[in-house]
Amino acid sequence: MLVPVRCFTCGKLIANIYNEYLTQLKQGEEPNKVMDSLKITRYCCRRMFVSSVETIYQVIPYYEALRKRRAEIQSEME
Ligand SMILES: [Zn+2]
Repeated sequence: MLVPVRCFTCGKLIANIYNEYLTQLKQGEEPNKVMDSLKITRYCCRRMFVSSVETIYQVIPYYEALRKRRAEIQSEME
């Protein structure tokens, strides 16, 4: 999924710093140090970062196939 805008538990805004978190992870930083530097201190918020999995790129092909199939059906109807 896309990262939630706010922490589910405390409501802290997290979507605005998620890209910075991913950028620093790709540079080889340790996740706990990145979260400390971004001032993510509560474990409810840290959970949002650690447990978030980007599944959007796995889902997109299905929507593209669905759109393609709908176009085929539409062209057969005409
Ligand atoms: Zn929180």
